[in-house]
Amino acid sequence: MPEAAEAPIDTPEAVPSPKTPQKLDLGDLHYEGLMDCVHCGLCLGACPTYRALGVEMDNPRGRIYQIRAVAEGRLPLNETFVEHMYLCLDCRACETACPSGVHFGARMEEARGMIETHYPRSRMGRLLRDFAFKRVFPSRPLLSALVAGMRFYQASGLQWLLRRSGLLNALPGGLGQKEALMPEVPPGPLRRPLPEVTPALGPTRHRVGFLTGCIMSLLFGKINRDTVRVLARNGCEVVAPSEQVCCGALNIHNGERVVSKDLARRNIEVFERSGVAFILSNSAGCGATLREYGDLLRDDPLYAERAKAFSAKVRDVSEFLADAGFTAPAGAVRARVTYDDACHLIHGQKVSKQPRKLIEAIPGAEIVPLRNADQCCGSAGIYNLTNTEMSLRVLEEKMRHVRAANADILVTGNPGCLIQLQAGVRRAGLKMEVLHTMELLERAYQA
Ligand code: SF4
Ligand code: SF4
Repeated sequence: MPEAAEAPIDTPEAVPSPKTPQKLDLGDLHYEGLMDCVHCGLCLGACPTYRALGVEMDNPRGRIYQIRAVAEGRLPLNETFVEHMYLCLDCRACETACPSGVHFGARMEEARGMIETHYPRSRMGRLLRDFAFKRVFPSRPLLSALVAGMRFYQASGLQWLLRRSGLLNALPGGLGQKEALMPEVPPGPLRRPLPEVTPALGPTRHRVGFLTGCIMSLLFGKINRDTVRVLARNGCEVVAPSEQVCCGALNIHNGERVVSKDLARRNIEVFERSGVAFILSNSAGCGATLREYGDLLRDDPLYAERAKAFSAKVRDVSEFLADAGFTAPAGAVRARVTYDDACHLIHGQKVSKQPRKLIEAIPGAEIVPLRNADQCCGSAGIYNLTNTEMSLRVLEEKMRHVRAANADILVTGNPGCLIQLQAGVRRAGLKMEVLHTMELLERAYQA
């Protein structure tokens, strides 16, 4: 690994000539944060893309080196750089492995922000990105319409017909593989918004806010309802403000920082008005993003302090229940249960013991270990759609361990992981349920 130049980034000698790469406006990039990496390589074994490819440019150390070189004007921000940055799953396993405290996820997201500011995408590519990230993802009505279309596609028999015809596999762009990942869309009633306030069952011990999430509320409405019931059973009055918006996770993971900051500001205002002491999420990806609003808005004079205060209130729902004290269910779930850590829960939020503690409290549940449970399943937001081949390679590795665990129920705590693992179970022909931690817990309460 060559030694990186130590010259400050704004020195006159760095003024670009036509033959040297352009020095860029770094935007949000926390350049000093890149210096925390001492190139020791202790993170390499944790990196799924490095395990798959064995290429230095596709491991955390190589990626940090490239970001730094582009920031210093020693490498051009070109297609190669973009490919290496977007092949990263942003799983943050390297953060857990890193002894130097490199905050890799944030640096990767900032680097992608730099890409989306400077990289000249094709007209069609830009239009598609703008439509997805600026129109559809932040808009509940548009996202609802998209999900309703998916429901029609499945319920009308069109999906069955297309799958049987083999047409999807004949279409370009690996459409058949991508379509096979589509989760089953629930019927309309399960996609309706939650009540703004759900009272505690029994005396109120806590008043908590709940981020309903876009994917969770539209594709996993039952899990959201189970979550609220579990909280209510444990003395929580649950406030789910109807004005809340998408957390911005998909935008921030894909370099669309302006939209994600706007969404963050709106959520801060909404939850400030609600006056809750905690803001809970049952989606690892959303929770990790909420916890980083303080970092995202660090340079915003109006919101920096409010964002920090907001992030300090955020908890994953399993973390909150386990730490606040919960009543173990009386009912039994007699099954072999194994747990897979969502990356943004274990690496992004450092929550791994608490969901296990909840599952262990379920009478009848026999806990079986899952080897490499802390490694990514390949879902990574929309990575399984944008980088399907690598995503499936990562999933294959995960499914080898899932098969070996030989459980009846596989539990995880993130919607993307649920979709990916359900697809993995279908592909592998396993007879195994894939459930969210709150779903399993509520099943035990109801048993
Ligand atoms: S990211 Fe951390 S573990 Fe990886 S090379 Fe840099 S300092 Fe070492
Ligand atoms: S975030 Fe995950 S995929 Fe990206 S460099 Fe780190 S370990 Fe590798």
